[in-house]
Amino acid sequence: MKFGFDIDDTLINLREHAFHLYNKKLNKELGIDLFLSLSTVEIHAPFGLTDEQGSQMWMDCMEEIYFTDCPAFADAIDTLNGLVAEGHEVFYITSRPKQYCWQTREWVKAQGFPVKDGNFFCGMADHEKIKIIQSLELDYYVDDKPAVLETLAEFGTKVIVKNQSYNQQIELPRLVDWCEFKNLL
Ligand SMILES: [Mg+2]
Repeated sequence: MKFGFDIDDTLINLREHAFHLYNKKLNKELGIDLFLSLSTVEIHAPFGLTDEQGSQMWMDCMEEIYFTDCPAFADAIDTLNGLVAEGHEVFYITSRPKQYCWQTREWVKAQGFPVKDGNFFCGMADHEKIKIIQSLELDYYVDDKPAVLETLAEFGTKVIVKNQSYNQQIELPRLVDWCEFKNLL
């Protein structure tokens, strides 16, 4: 079968990693409980930043957020390697900005995820992911972001939502822990 995965906050814990970086940079000590109760993908509100300041902060820190030591979610790397070992195809579909695509692919490989060069798609807008998912004829696709998931209703690929505080309203098969992935297939 063909499996497609978003990367940020689906396979790796990027927002929480960024939250810790914001604490350091802004000299704050906001608790993880604030992070876990966020109802938005964006993380700036608890730091008292406006949307404009928040998006500027994200842009300014982006390279550091992406390419330092952001951890993968537990069992995500093993799960994807297990799929490849069983003969399945694994694809990555990330809307990270174009200028970071090459570096992202190398970083994802370095973490131990199985990456075939032709199976890595990057730099599209959220709403453009559907075209790639359709053209690849994926059997399954996993993402965390409501704006993406909402475009994927009612078509051939089975969509799984990676559980996050900001996507509780999405009614799809829900992946909480990567060790349970196989149970959703
Ligand atoms: Mg994501």
